Amino acid sequence: MFTVDNLKKSLQLFKEKIDKNKDYLSELDTPIGDGDHGNNMARGMEAVSEILQSKEPETVQDIFKLTAMALISKVGGASGPLYGTAMMEMAKASATTSDALPILEAGLAGIEKRGNSQPGEKTMLDEWAPAIVAIKNGTLTDATLESAVEATKEITATKGRASYVGERSIGHVDPGAMSSMYFFQSLMEAGVF
Ligand code: ADP
Ligand code: MG
Ligand code: MG
Repeated sequence: MFTVDNLKKSLQLFKEKIDKNKDYLSELDTPIGDGDHGNNMARGMEAVSEILQSKEPETVQDIFKLTAMALISKVGGASGPLYGTAMMEMAKASATTSDALPILEAGLAGIEKRGNSQPGEKTMLDEWAPAIVAIKNGTLTDATLESAVEATKEITATKGRASYVGERSIGHVDPGAMSSMYFFQSLMEAGVF
């Protein structure tokens, strides 16, 4: 279940993990992209942190909405609008429920729609989809999240910049799947489920 406190805590933890792994995320983005994923996400989460401090939102819906706005306006790369759309769809879903599962499912659907993508294309969806299945089954652990990221190595990219290198993307982890692992770990650590 999402609460104001655990969502704020989740976003704080997510920002810390992104900051700590900023160079690593950009390194992952180098062989199959343009080497900026860590910088993009760090800039975005810095903006999220600032807007949440200045606006002091008091509902889960408003926290998600402000997060979406900050990511969409401050991140130049593909990941900004994709994570931003996920957050905006989660804001909408949280108008009628605080249950984490339907809210995260709405986020996943938002990424698919905005990205014209689906799981199996070596993107962040290859972390979001198995994480959500595991949440549904009550089996979510760090190991589940880690093996889903690892499994992106075997996929040939068909969406985003990594699709430009085609089969040469095989053997490399998708950076957006890695940052998404940090997102789900943050939710777990903050006690969302
Ligand atoms: P850019 O590719 O514009 O430099 P980033 O490097 O910040 O943006 O983000 C790249 C990540 O975005 C990829 O690793 C992938 O996970 C995700 N991504 C890219 N395109 C799509 C898409 N169409 N659908 C879902 N995720 C995508
Ligand atoms: Mg990039
Ligand atoms: Mg870029």
